[in-house]
Amino acid sequence: MKIYVDFDDCLCETALAFTGIAARMFGKNIPYEKVRFFNLQKSFALTDEEYEALMTEGHRPEVLLSYEETPGAALTIGGWLDSGHEVSIITGRPYSAYEASREWLDRHGFERVSLYCLDKYGRDSFIRDSIFSLELEDYYKMHFDYAVEDSPAAFRFFTHLPELKVLVFDRPWNRECEFPGKNYFRCPDWETIRKRVSGETPVA
Ligand SMILES: [Mg+2]
Repeated sequence: MKIYVDFDDCLCETALAFTGIAARMFGKNIPYEKVRFFNLQKSFALTDEEYEALMTEGHRPEVLLSYEETPGAALTIGGWLDSGHEVSIITGRPYSAYEASREWLDRHGFERVSLYCLDKYGRDSFIRDSIFSLELEDYYKMHFDYAVEDSPAAFRFFTHLPELKVLVFDRPWNRECEFPGKNYFRCPDWETIRKRVSGETPVA
């Protein structure tokens, strides 16, 4: 099987790290459970300048390398690769973050997965004038059976694959979102995701 996996808040605890950065830089003490919007500018009530500074800080290589792994991610994905599944990490991070992201993957047991930077969020997110390594037209040529994603803003990248099963990693900012189809399943952790893909929990 071919499996799409998002990076931030699927493989690692990015938003949690950003709550710490927002507190340190701007004195914004927003508990993780109160991060209700995928757009962190909105969640932390930041000005445009503050948001840009937050994003720049969060994408420095040392900071990217410090993000904690989401429990069970490497174990589950390693198991998939051992079973012959193909795993592609499709991140909305800009290509300028590629090297540090690749290093993070290698350090955390994801040496065997491919990493692609796709402009998922357009001008609304991340760093201005970013470049990305995966062109949209090439992304649309890829085929996936499963996708692991936390961001409702990325669901539009799945509409061309009606058979795709989308495993939505449960996060505070996607709890109020209405899923676009019956092929979307909320998953609280990697063990639930593993069971869905293995067929231990049936997916409709
Ligand atoms: Mg994400």
